[in-house]
Amino acid sequence: MKRPLSEILTALGEQREDYFRAMAPPIVQTSNFAFPTIEAFRQGILDERGSHVYTRGNNPTVEILRKKLAALEETDDALVLSSGSAACAMAIMSQVKSGDHVVCVRNPYSWTKALLSNYLPRFGVTTTYVDGTDVENIRTAIRPETRVIYLESPNTLTYELQDLSACADLAQEHGIVTMIDNSHASPIFQKPATLGIDLVIHTITKYLNGHSDVVAGAICGPDHLIDRIFFSEFMTLGAVVSPMDAALTIRGLRTLDLRMRRCADSAMQIVPWLKSHPKISQVLYPFDPDFPQYNLARRQMSGCGGLLTISVNAEKIEDVRRFVDALERFEIAVSWGGHESLVLPIAALYGLEGRDDPEVPWNVVRLYIGLEDPGYLIEDLERGLSVL
Ligand SMILES: *Cc1c(COP(=O)(O)O)cnc(C)c1O
Repeated sequence: MKRPLSEILTALGEQREDYFRAMAPPIVQTSNFAFPTIEAFRQGILDERGSHVYTRGNNPTVEILRKKLAALEETDDALVLSSGSAACAMAIMSQVKSGDHVVCVRNPYSWTKALLSNYLPRFGVTTTYVDGTDVENIRTAIRPETRVIYLESPNTLTYELQDLSACADLAQEHGIVTMIDNSHASPIFQKPATLGIDLVIHTITKYLNGHSDVVAGAICGPDHLIDRIFFSEFMTLGAVVSPMDAALTIRGLRTLDLRMRRCADSAMQIVPWLKSHPKISQVLYPFDPDFPQYNLARRQMSGCGGLLTISVNAEKIEDVRRFVDALERFEIAVSWGGHESLVLPIAALYGLEGRDDPEVPWNVVRLYIGLEDPGYLIEDLERGLSVL
């Protein structure tokens, strides 16, 4: 079912003859749908995933988005949820029961880790975290009761990768379901299902919507797994997206390809500048030739977005804080993937009352390169670093 990218983003799933040939799809703001006959109603109930019965199940605006996401990831179908965290949680929970075991890469997204470490153990599900940069570590961690191999490649702070084909082959040998959080690469730069991964998870909040005005998530996968999730976690936990947020995301997707390429091109200009700066001791960016897994990144990703991480040459934590406070164009914030460039200083997370200090050193700073002119951003970094 391979379609040109431009067709997916601009046309797929949009049936204008159904809505006055309006160019922008309508926001079908309704909770439920009426049927002309009992027979039609019976058919609707039987096929709730594909028909229009009730908006907790399916909604015409959301359905357009589902079709686009499935086509982007080259999977049979997609479900859209009210957040990326809900997508991660439901994908994992759909595959485990009491006594089961998950193998997860070290340092997944923080709330995925909270689910696996703090929440699922209450229901008798345990997790082993492994360094996924070597597939042999995953193999060693597999037990008879392992049901899920959970991947995140690259992650969003230090960008460790997994060899996705090798992981998929290993899982297949053992009859284990593989899933990946593909938010970093987006389907523009990496399509894990084409490498054999079963479920592909996204936070829509980041690149897919791309304008910092929606929180949502998605699970893309084959019909048999999506069907199981739909009639279980999806309908019972009910963390669905609103038609309004689906419409905003459809709009955001129009420019996904353009935005990804802009972020990637700008990052590729900013990375060498940072590497040559005397106040920066390290730059992590998977498409930088000095990145430890550069060859694997080049092999399984067709591009790399706007996230990069630097280590600042600073003697005191206060110096890092002064550098970040001196930035005027990078905003201090969590998240990434929107139009605006952001800075996330790990130094800000040290010494918080009642919290453990991060494992990551305080001189580490994550930058997200947004859609601004790269020269304008370099000027800002120059200004910030000049206080050191
Ligand atoms: C933000 C994020 C999530 C969670 O998504 P929300 O939409 O904020 O719930 C999951 N995975 C990654 C990699 C993220 O960056």
